[in-house]
Amino acid sequence: MAMSPIRQADRLRESYRGRSVVHCKECGLFTQSGKTFCSEHSYMERYAQDVRLRIAQRDKEINDLEKNGGPLTTGGSLSKEILGHLCNTHCTTRRLSRDLQLSETVINAACKHLSKAGKIRTWRNKRGSTVVGLPDTET
Ligand SMILES: [Zn+2]
Repeated sequence: MAMSPIRQADRLRESYRGRSVVHCKECGLFTQSGKTFCSEHSYMERYAQDVRLRIAQRDKEINDLEKNGGPLTTGGSLSKEILGHLCNTHCTTRRLSRDLQLSETVINAACKHLSKAGKIRTWRNKRGSTVVGLPDTET
């Protein structure tokens, strides 16, 4: 397969400079100015950065919920995780905590925010445990 002009340029540029080279993590070609990916795969760097940001935001939210009960971004990763889980089922907050491997403090605080935002509803089962489900869940 013929090499794309962009890749050729990457390769040439590096041979001109002749300094210490970094290879693209994806394809192994030389990259520009010490970058982790070549120009063709630079989108992967942006993707990786995006993932790192989302993980950092999720960690911060969990920490804040644990300590101060919030805040929670209702469109954030953690909310999506909870709402995604409730897509197929409704369950007690205790069960949700176990399934998502998050403390009950975090789950209870997060559910309070999601409920206030109308994303979920909560009710009590016969045993008196708090159950959460999507707003249209039939009980
Ligand atoms: Zn590459």
